[in-house]
Amino acid sequence: MIRYVYINNLVLNIYEKLPKIQFPLDIKSVINYLPNCRYMSYQDFAKINKCSIEDVIQICESKSGCTHYDVLQDRYLILCNQSTQDNNNIGRQRWTCGHEIGHIVCNHHAMSAYEKLSENSLLQTNNTEYEREADYFAATILAPFPLFKLLNIKSAIDVQNIFGLSAEASLYRYKQYIKTYQTRYKTSWDNDIIRLYQKKNI
Ligand SMILES: [Zn+2]
Repeated sequence: MIRYVYINNLVLNIYEKLPKIQFPLDIKSVINYLPNCRYMSYQDFAKINKCSIEDVIQICESKSGCTHYDVLQDRYLILCNQSTQDNNNIGRQRWTCGHEIGHIVCNHHAMSAYEKLSENSLLQTNNTEYEREADYFAATILAPFPLFKLLNIKSAIDVQNIFGLSAEASLYRYKQYIKTYQTRYKTSWDNDIIRLYQKKNI
């Protein structure tokens, strides 16, 4: 079962730690507010380790990103491919980074028997619940439904322009908003997100 309420509160806690909340969210800067977590691009990783990008893709078992978890030291290293080749546009990169942060804050690494969660191997090992939670986290932190009305979001294009998601992710997010959010009652979480945004959007 996807822990929606739990993940909503994770997003709220992170927003509380950020000095500013502005969209598109600078998702890489969010990592600075997480304990024991660092970010490195595939490109820097390749340079430091004197290997090719192809090698990094192989190590990560993913073309887009992965997280290495050092169990003994309880430390995370998020690796993301910053090349825009193969349709890996900035919107997709933003999503990948949000997704990897999702795995960390949802504690998937510690919960998993594996030291490293990579997108491909995870799908193959049928860990789809972790994937869905990481995606739900990414969607919520990058494009929170409680702010759609305030930010005058009226189409998938608006989602793309304001929140900086890819065209595909924006369309999916907007459809979800219409289907699941628009008509439901506001909770205290919705109000907290709006309050924090208004306070920190300076
Ligand atoms: Zn994943």
